[in-house]
Amino acid sequence: MNNEGNLKPAGQAIFKDRFTTRANELLVTSEKGEKGKFGVIGLPLSKSSISHSGASLAPGAIRSSLASFTTYSNELGKDLTDLILDFGDVLMHPTDIVESQRRITAEVGDVLASSAVNNWFFLGGDHGITYSTVKALAAQGKKIGIIQFDAHHDLRNTEDGGPTNGTPFRRLLEDNVIEGKQISQIGIRDFMNAKNYDHYAKEQGIKLYTMKDVEEQGIREIMKAELERLADFVDCIYLSVDMDVLDQAFAPGCPAIGPGGMDSTSLINSIELAARHEKVKMMDIVEIDPTLDFRDMTSRVAAYLLLMFMKSKLN
Ligand code: CA
Repeated sequence: MNNEGNLKPAGQAIFKDRFTTRANELLVTSEKGEKGKFGVIGLPLSKSSISHSGASLAPGAIRSSLASFTTYSNELGKDLTDLILDFGDVLMHPTDIVESQRRITAEVGDVLASSAVNNWFFLGGDHGITYSTVKALAAQGKKIGIIQFDAHHDLRNTEDGGPTNGTPFRRLLEDNVIEGKQISQIGIRDFMNAKNYDHYAKEQGIKLYTMKDVEEQGIREIMKAELERLADFVDCIYLSVDMDVLDQAFAPGCPAIGPGGMDSTSLINSIELAARHEKVKMMDIVEIDPTLDFRDMTSRVAAYLLLMFMKSKLN
């Protein structure tokens, strides 16, 4: 081993022809007043989950999983060079779900108001966080379109169980934060939802695509159609990625696993395509329980989605 090799920074290979930058090296702690292209904030809320969930551990697992990848895109022949400013995790209340959701809205509202970055990644947590992040965005006077990748509608009422991870989109509608036509739900699966919620979604004018629609129409055509439809009347488009949209074969770390779901390449292509649109500036990733995951398979998909989003904004 020569001295030159030993002097290279930690995390980088010691041989010139194997020199790589790992994607986790793009993550840097945000300093006050600093501006950037991408920002990440962890929202480790899983107490609102209907079933047992360790999704509060996911923000750390997704950040760590970036180390599984390099910064180099073979398809573009370029490295990602933009940093991801890391705003840390919002501190959750130990017992009070509503207080935790209030904190998420307040802190996400603060970072959005600072205009520190152009594109945001919100790392859940369970899907309960999306009520809070979208509420924070709407409070800025933005009309928001949401493309939700999910096996489930998440349109349960709060009377039956409080503000759980099954309720975020119902609450956003009932609180008049958004209207049904502002939501697209993609990847809805058979035998995972109750009839009432399907009817409610249709009554509200939510645009629905089941897995059969995905298979028959193709994910690219669906994405193009929904980006065009939403961009026509909203200011920004928010991607809400519930990892349980993926088939259980691709996402073993979700609390709600099942067959008949999307393959990871289709989801990756969807995010890559969506992020090319100038109105797509935000993405949340929810419902990963690292304690159930196998070899970080699910967190690695999540980390890859972040990189694909960044790749699409490279130019
Ligand atoms: Ca969900």
